[in-house]
Amino acid sequence: MTIYLDAEHEMFRSEYRRYVREEVLPIAAEADEAGEFPLKVLQALGRMGYLCLQLPEQYGGSSADATMLVIAAEEMAYASSGIDASLLVHSVIAVNPILKFGSDEQRERYLPRAASGTAVAAIAMTEPDAGSDVASISTSAQRNVDGFLINGVKMFITNGTIADFVVVAARTGEPGHRGISLFIVDADTPGFKAARRLEKLGWRASDTAELVFDDCAIPASSLIGEENKGFYYLMENLNLERIVMAADCLGLARAAIDQAKGYALERRQFGQPIASFQDIRFMIVDMETRLRAAQLLTYDAAWKLQTGEDCTMEASMARYVAGEMVNRVTADAIQIHGGYGFMMESGVQRFYRDARVMTIGGGTSQIQKEVIARRLGLG
Ligand SMILES: Cc1cc2nc3c(=O)[nH]c(=O)nc-3n(C[C@H](O)[C@H](O)[C@H](O)COP(=O)(O)OP(=O)(O)OC[C@H]3O[C@@H](n4cnc5c(N)ncnc54)[C@H](O)[C@@H]3O)c2cc1C
Repeated sequence: MTIYLDAEHEMFRSEYRRYVREEVLPIAAEADEAGEFPLKVLQALGRMGYLCLQLPEQYGGSSADATMLVIAAEEMAYASSGIDASLLVHSVIAVNPILKFGSDEQRERYLPRAASGTAVAAIAMTEPDAGSDVASISTSAQRNVDGFLINGVKMFITNGTIADFVVVAARTGEPGHRGISLFIVDADTPGFKAARRLEKLGWRASDTAELVFDDCAIPASSLIGEENKGFYYLMENLNLERIVMAADCLGLARAAIDQAKGYALERRQFGQPIASFQDIRFMIVDMETRLRAAQLLTYDAAWKLQTGEDCTMEASMARYVAGEMVNRVTADAIQIHGGYGFMMESGVQRFYRDARVMTIGGGTSQIQKEVIARRLGLG
């Protein structure tokens, strides 16, 4: 990876890794079993100045480049992809529209609290009837004398029950992508409710909820940027979102491979370590090779993004390949563990469950392929 990493990146990785391995790894299985996001991780990262790394110093960040965010996601997901998911939504996906398109007042009010870990952020786009087709959302924001009145339901919202503020996409204009605006809604606003926490197959260490807006009155100053420009603001964020989600897959796959390799060397059958059987050793070769390929795509996309090149195709390729790769790798890690891999007491079962969402959440594999197809000039 050296061509993509300088000394600062390497130093950051070793410091961040030390924190993750010492403080997060020991509580990762417990958080998964409890189905709870450990807020203390977000708060500790905030105290260390490692939470919203890409923010400028004035808001508590360190103006970190995309590669730095990839490293953080990769390292955190090694311990827990679920915890990393909550952190990524908070620190990158929800906060960036405020940084890029928010007013000075919005930035001053929300960004320092997000960076210090004293307030949790969420972003609500998806609805029961609008997932991949974000442009079809029906949650409405109607203007009134004081501001806007929001009505509607949002589904699968990460950090939904623990958020202090939510960036919400709502319809303010014509049908389709030209009629959507973004708002910041404080969680204590009357009419806003985290209606229910959703139980999940994987990413159980992240919080996921259904949100209901019932005549939720917000001031006009809650609008991010210009009215009806929300869809474009969301699209601006997409490449970075896809790249950091790909990085999460890399960390999760690394954890699965490390455990599978360790087990293959230790476990003996027919008088020899199972790692000596060609089917097993080649399975590990394929896992490592697939991970390496996804890693190169991800770091390359991050490099392009931070050097200002168009990376839409590369970001989708990284996300697509990494999502498929981590599903294959974690399934193979179970296979290598045999019956033990199928038991809840094994570590690899969590990796397998956490990986499943990686071809779905934040843009499915099919949608990534559509993006790539369009970039290839296929209409
Ligand atoms: C754990 C989790 C956390 C999430 N967190 C958030 C969050 O914080 N905020 C938020 O707003 N959303 C969040 N989401 C929602 C997520 O982004 C959506 O689930 C995702 O975009 C897919 O939408 P959908 O689930 O409605 O599936 P659908 O869009 O209904 O897709 C169903 C199937 O149809 C396929 N499909 C759809 N359109 C096409 C097409 N044009 N071509 C080919 N195939 C197609 C899909 O690939 C998929 O296989 C989260 C989801 C999960 C599971």
